[in-house]
Amino acid sequence: MTTRSYRDSAALFARGQRVIPGGVNSPVRACRSVGVDPVFVAQGDGPHITDVDGNRYVDLIGSWGPLIMGHCQAEILDAIAETMSSGTTFGAPTEIEVRFAETICEAIPSIEKVRAVSSGTEATMSALRLARGFTGRAKIIKMDGGYHGHTDCLLVAAGSGAATLGIPGSAGVPEGAARDTIVVPYNDVAAVEAALAAAGDGPDGVAAVIVEPVAGNMGLVPPAEGYLQGLRDATARHGALLIFDEVITGFRVGYGGAQGHFGVTPDLTCVGKIVGGGLPAAAFGGRADIMDKLSPLGPVYQAGTLSGNPLAMAAGLKALEILHRPGTYERLEELGARLGAGLVAAARDAGLPHCLNRVGSVMTLFFCDGPVTDYASAKAADTARFATFFQAMRERGVFLPPSQYEAMFVSLAHDEAIIDEVIAAARESLAVAAA
Ligand code: PLP
Repeated sequence: MTTRSYRDSAALFARGQRVIPGGVNSPVRACRSVGVDPVFVAQGDGPHITDVDGNRYVDLIGSWGPLIMGHCQAEILDAIAETMSSGTTFGAPTEIEVRFAETICEAIPSIEKVRAVSSGTEATMSALRLARGFTGRAKIIKMDGGYHGHTDCLLVAAGSGAATLGIPGSAGVPEGAARDTIVVPYNDVAAVEAALAAAGDGPDGVAAVIVEPVAGNMGLVPPAEGYLQGLRDATARHGALLIFDEVITGFRVGYGGAQGHFGVTPDLTCVGKIVGGGLPAAAFGGRADIMDKLSPLGPVYQAGTLSGNPLAMAAGLKALEILHRPGTYERLEELGARLGAGLVAAARDAGLPHCLNRVGSVMTLFFCDGPVTDYASAKAADTARFATFFQAMRERGVFLPPSQYEAMFVSLAHDEAIIDEVIAAARESLAVAAA
């Protein structure tokens, strides 16, 4: 192992900090929780990225999920180029938007109608407004440690207790916005049931329960047996809508998303990341009777200058076409299983407390004994040890998500040899973290 230089990244970081808050356009990229400065990426190719100092890495971030085919996938680049030659945006309907909507509806049968937006944040924000407009109720329920983008009413933290009214999770979130959000632990149907009952069915009742069907933002935490069905039953009983935030899981854990994988049908679904094929696209959709409440048909307003952007639609459609080919998800499972097993064996051999949570090609290695089933148990992880592990992996040419509470993403561009390279680097890095 040679010691890497990050000199050019450091220079760009210094320049960036003068004109961009914290030098980054999204906070986790600053790598603060792992105690290093960020590297600046010059290019990606397949499963690799190269930084501006010429350091090459196996990429296990995949732009936080979208790049399920790896970087610079040739068919996707061609689709973008071909579409671009006819123009980049019109602000008027195009054929490719209709094809995108048809493809999403076909892939995820609970989505009878869908609207495209440009980010996951927009998708969840719009789905919640729609749920409130449809039900005439004010409150929403979210899970502690769940992340759905940075909309005010979703950027809230839990108080103490099984079900608490949210408190602002950021300066600038008004108490009023947080107060209509009830926060309950993930994997706890009884807490949801109790909160639904307590809120009642008047205007102050619960409009919707929003959940990542596989939690991906407290590290990866799969749903307990029966949890998602329990949410389905409880929301139906109390007249609230069930919203699956499949911004990570959609087209990741299966072509039909987590709802296909676990066989539970929500009322509304948000997708993002993969559906943009590496460009900014997301969408929300669901039951036609609910979706038809959207403007211009109904009274719930929602709009976007670049919604359904042709380049993003082209990239996303090509990604979905590739994912629909036979064997894709079996391959992702194979590669994910190989990496998961290798990490577990390496952590065991290093004598470290560990708990690997994995669904297909997405996983988190927690530095605690586990099981990790919710945010409270995730918080038992040793984040200082994770930081040491992250740094050692980076020195060895593996780029991990820079937080214990994020998930690693394997892509179709990874192969057995690359996974084995990652495992070998992990063996050394875990020994460093154990010292
Ligand atoms: N929902 C989930 C589950 C996410 O993981 C994210 C982002 O990571 C979002 C919503 C927000 O998406 P975006 O960053 O595109 O606004």
